[in-house]
Amino acid sequence: GGKVRITFDDTIEAGTDFVLTVRYGGNPRPIRTAWGEIGWEETESGALVASQPNGAPSWFPCDDTPSEKATYDIRVTADNPFTVISNGTLVSKKAQNSTTTWHYKVDSPMATYLATIQVGEYTKFKLGRNTTAWAPAHLRARVEEEFKQQQEMLDFYESVFGEYPFPDYQVVITDDELEIPLEAQGLSIFGSNHIAGDHRFERLIAHELAHQWFGNAVGISEWKDIWLNEGFACYCEWLWVEHLGTSTAHEVARSHYLVLSRKGQDLTLADPGTRDMFDDRVYKRGAITIHALRRLLGDEAFFAAVRNYLHDARHSTVVPDDFIGHVEAAATRAGIAPEELAELLDVWLNQKPLPKFPA
Ligand SMILES: [Zn+2]
Repeated sequence: GGKVRITFDDTIEAGTDFVLTVRYGGNPRPIRTAWGEIGWEETESGALVASQPNGAPSWFPCDDTPSEKATYDIRVTADNPFTVISNGTLVSKKAQNSTTTWHYKVDSPMATYLATIQVGEYTKFKLGRNTTAWAPAHLRARVEEEFKQQQEMLDFYESVFGEYPFPDYQVVITDDELEIPLEAQGLSIFGSNHIAGDHRFERLIAHELAHQWFGNAVGISEWKDIWLNEGFACYCEWLWVEHLGTSTAHEVARSHYLVLSRKGQDLTLADPGTRDMFDDRVYKRGAITIHALRRLLGDEAFFAAVRNYLHDARHSTVVPDDFIGHVEAAATRAGIAPEELAELLDVWLNQKPLPKFPA
């Protein structure tokens, strides 16, 4: 039933470190869930892994909760000429007869759902100082066009949120079309349909990169808190637009607020439940909640609070109170009444009706 029960010959005292080796084998295949089939998936000519939220056991044994972070050592053998891309740093690549073994090491603690491998006929090329793309050769020109600001985007986020949390950032563009792009630790996966050549999906590029700070380096402990990941990733799309000067985050927030106001108001952001976990309203209302905090605190206090939060929680997991604690401290320093902040958080996070747009 998806669980492994282990009994030991000797009692192991609580708090004792020990090594447990699990040998396993089988044919990986997707897991059927409330959100469709997830995990290991075959592509037209390879394979990909898209595990959020609980698809990781489709390809390795694990305690599949977001709070269980671990370091990883991943070795995958594939037929030539296939490339294997995974999280972390490529340690070695050994060819033997008609196969090649790719060895990756992930030194920063990683949640199970963020572990991935991508198998396909990929070529690799630099996008910037610490940004790289993997794509089928025939898509290279389009990828270079769509991702030409990837490095600038990363540099911009670093200036706002602090240092990029992993050794480098990679984007994988599959030959197949994908319903949605997906974040993994240190990399993001896009479908060939997301690189139309006209920057139509640039907000998704901004969104996935933001997850490296919000969700990956700083992870949630429970899926009910997904607004913390998705609200910030969505808000980063708006910050990027603001950075480009196309529009302000306030204007973008207002347009999404209008859309939200015409949709059903029957979900609680603080705990949307299984069915609505990936509902667009969680993303947009989460982002507007963050915008409301920015309006209340002012830019200086708000961004300092976010940087402190990311710094303190780097490579660990959080609950919303970890973020809220930093916001409260910033509000106190800015002379904002605690009741005013508490009221804002309550109406946006715990109440169903859409609160007033942040002035
Ligand atoms: Zn997201």
